[in-house]
Amino acid sequence: MATQTQTAGVLPQRGSRSGLINTFVALFALAVVINGGVMVWVWLKDGGVTQVHNFTEFLLSFGRITGLVGAYMALLQVLLLARLPPLERRIGLERLTVWHRRNGKLVIYLVVIHVVTSTIGYAQTAHTGLWLQFKEFLNIYPGMVTATVGTALMLLTVVSSLVIARRRLPYEAWYGVHLTVYAGIVLAYLHQIPSGTDFFTSTVQSDWWIALYVVTLALLLIYRVLLPLRQFVRLDLHVSAVERVGPDVSSITITGKHLESLGAVGGQFMLWRFMSKGLWWQSHPFSLSAAPNGRALRITVKAVGGYTRLLQDVPVGTRVLAEGPFGRFIGARRQRRRVTMIAGGIGVTPLRSIFEELSDAAVTFIYRAVDDADLVLHDEITQLAKERGAQVHDLVGDHRDPRFAELLSSKNLIEICPDIASSDVYLCGPVPMMHHAIENLKAAGVPKHQIHWEAFAFAA
Ligand SMILES: Cc1cc2nc3c(=O)[nH]c(=O)nc-3n(C[C@H](O)[C@H](O)[C@H](O)COP(=O)(O)OP(=O)(O)OC[C@H]3O[C@@H](n4cnc5c(N)ncnc54)[C@H](O)[C@@H]3O)c2cc1C
Repeated sequence: MATQTQTAGVLPQRGSRSGLINTFVALFALAVVINGGVMVWVWLKDGGVTQVHNFTEFLLSFGRITGLVGAYMALLQVLLLARLPPLERRIGLERLTVWHRRNGKLVIYLVVIHVVTSTIGYAQTAHTGLWLQFKEFLNIYPGMVTATVGTALMLLTVVSSLVIARRRLPYEAWYGVHLTVYAGIVLAYLHQIPSGTDFFTSTVQSDWWIALYVVTLALLLIYRVLLPLRQFVRLDLHVSAVERVGPDVSSITITGKHLESLGAVGGQFMLWRFMSKGLWWQSHPFSLSAAPNGRALRITVKAVGGYTRLLQDVPVGTRVLAEGPFGRFIGARRQRRRVTMIAGGIGVTPLRSIFEELSDAAVTFIYRAVDDADLVLHDEITQLAKERGAQVHDLVGDHRDPRFAELLSSKNLIEICPDIASSDVYLCGPVPMMHHAIENLKAAGVPKHQIHWEAFAFAA
């Protein structure tokens, strides 16, 4: 039966690994819960509830638990984006990024509450003012100066991450500030063992706490630094061709060794770092725009900002460091033989590579663009459609013009693809277009679980 059979090599490989991946994810979740439980137990054992007899003691105890949980969540924050392969494969980088953002807010709230309640609690105990107490913390308690700098760095990250600030800041500036949060976590750590009531009183407890930090940092180092470097050396990736395929759009082919070992499939994306002038210090996500064939990987990039503009002329021969592949926007998600693909502008890239791999599906390809010139990779899609007996529908027109605003209406979608409700739908394009299309697909009777989408922004 055609519905479950996918491109050779895709499903069998995933199927055989999925047991291991699920086991790792379950063990990871268990470790998180157990260590969280140990932390609460330590707090309770050291009088978290039993030694609270008045409001001051309540503040001190509350300050302790919020500090502990905040520090623990900060370690989880690091692990969520440590690129642990089983987490990436089971949950997906996009979803992990969303969790990372939400968890990050929680960490900051907890750290702020910890600082405020501890300062008030200690000030009330010493019958002194808040400012004097704060100065005393800095002067007397070990590690407090570094902890204050660490907290300030964490707050700086939050400010830069606020949506408004992020829109005003260039992405790279935001990312640079964001990286300082690692320093913030280490600096905050420096006050926990010498000044934390739960640790300086017990070697076992402090050893356990140190172990949590060591394991987290080791995983970060292995998966964010050492393995990407090993992949860089082993794959020996370099740019082998650059081709202009539209106004401000280029396809870049990257070749190297052992590419099949990546296990990449159409629709996935990688984080690409091009080792040439002006490009080497940043990595950006781009989807594979052709199905990987073991010999080459291809991406197609639209110039929307400084980095992507420079990339249009990346020299052939440039070495490339690529992390990944990531993403679950792949042909193997399909459950039906009928597939509708809806591409919006440069969102065509992952759809083009998925389409290439869906040799046994009945595909209707809808290509939405503002202008004919934006229909990049159109010839390739038409060629693939010809080979597979698929249909391609171009819907061209500026959505701001009322005549073209409803090109993706449910009525239009049903007209183009009468059995759309019984098809899997793959969708990628600008975020507003996708929201609009998803609403209309639902109105056209497509169940939510049959709609697969990819956004070109982690926060979408
Ligand atoms: C999963 C995914 C797949 C993508 N696939 C493609 C593709 O196949 N072809 C294509 O042309 N574009 C793709 N993009 C979009 C591409 O990554 C951005 O257009 C590019 O990073 C913009 O960089 P810039 O400096 O030129 O522009 P800027 O003006 O600096 O950025 C424009 C926007 O791109 C995002 N962005 C910028 N830098 C990064 C970064 N390092 N990491 C994550 N997001 C960033 C931010 O939301 C920013 O607001 C994809 C994005 C994602 C998340």
